[in-house]
Amino acid sequence: MRFTFKYPVYPTRSQEKTLLGWFDHLCELQNSARHDRLVAYETLGTFVSLSDQQTLLTQAREKYEDFREVPQDFQNHALRRNGKAFTTFYKRWKENAGKKGYPRYKKRVRSLTWSLRKYTKVVRPKTKDAEKQTVRVRQNPIRETAWKHDRLKVPTLGEVKIYMHRPLEGDPKEVTIVKKASGWYAHITCELPDTPKVEPTDAIAVDVGTTHYLTTSEGEKEDNPRYYRQAEGLLHKHNQTMARRKKGSNRWRKAVHASALHQERTVNKRKDFIGKLVYKLYHHKKNNVLVAEDLSVSNMVQNKHLSKSISDASWGIFFKWCASIAERDGLHFHQVDPKNTSQTCSACGKKSPKKLSLAIRTFDCSFCGTVLDRDHNAALNILLRAATALRGEPWVTTLCEARNTNEARDAGLQNAKQLLLFATSPSL
Ligand SMILES: [Zn+2]
Repeated sequence: MRFTFKYPVYPTRSQEKTLLGWFDHLCELQNSARHDRLVAYETLGTFVSLSDQQTLLTQAREKYEDFREVPQDFQNHALRRNGKAFTTFYKRWKENAGKKGYPRYKKRVRSLTWSLRKYTKVVRPKTKDAEKQTVRVRQNPIRETAWKHDRLKVPTLGEVKIYMHRPLEGDPKEVTIVKKASGWYAHITCELPDTPKVEPTDAIAVDVGTTHYLTTSEGEKEDNPRYYRQAEGLLHKHNQTMARRKKGSNRWRKAVHASALHQERTVNKRKDFIGKLVYKLYHHKKNNVLVAEDLSVSNMVQNKHLSKSISDASWGIFFKWCASIAERDGLHFHQVDPKNTSQTCSACGKKSPKKLSLAIRTFDCSFCGTVLDRDHNAALNILLRAATALRGEPWVTTLCEARNTNEARDAGLQNAKQLLLFATSPSL
């Protein structure tokens, strides 16, 4: 399991200047690497590999002085980042032929990464007769001090103040320095041992929406905070100020910074909300299985009526966090096919003959007469689908079978789906 710890760092003026210079260099490097690949592909139809580019980099370092001024590790990571963009591009291009969607030209680079290597350390013996011993040690990026700030060791640059508000865990592998509007941050990626999965006992399903952020299979709703909509007014004001000022001037730069800071805070608010929500679903409500829909958010954003609401909700981040918290704490997270979850009756399993529009908020089954809240019904369907899918059955045929209330009543359980979900699935 990989885990990233984020800490604020405080470079001095001159360190800041060096870092910004490196950012510019890496930006240029990344763009030329992108250009090379595109030219090779468009004119010759060949693919340039990452290792080819790394060889070229080594040659360039021998030739040019400005290449030698930047540590090679940063440059390698910039090439790797470009390589990653191209791998996804090739994949995208293969999947839907004709649609290319090249990796974009980068206007600026705001971060640099380096790896922490292992080296051989000689341990000096305490007594004279004992032999020298060697051990493999990982570079420790942090030097602890007695003051408030510890020091982060940056290649070539030296030591930068870092505020360690929580201890590092595991084996640190990579460090990234990021510049944001609010300041500088260090992201330290560590390798941690995997948490063993707990025995699944309590499951909950969520249906995400735009009116309410989500509805659980127990019928509870979470309000949608709509942070972007809240922030929109002030953002518009910032943009107006920016437009009034002369581009490139000091006052203009101040306005740009104010706008960026405002946007960063909006993002932080949203992340805070999502993090707390995921924690609540798993830990406060004592569930160890969470089931959600498998939505393709990027396709849904193309709906022009809903795109702003959907982007504001950031379901993608929500699902990602659900999965990573599950991994961290040994819990379970499942996603099911979202097709017709809101059009099917969760009690009898029959599909509604008429398509329910988004405006209708209650589900009224014309076959068995069940009246339920629309989102609650969908959440129950999601839970049922997970149950049947885990048993390896197609969900359409087993939907009715999945709600056998007698068994649950005999077992003394309130929620029928819980019993059926796990009674027949020994391994998840
Ligand atoms: Zn029904």
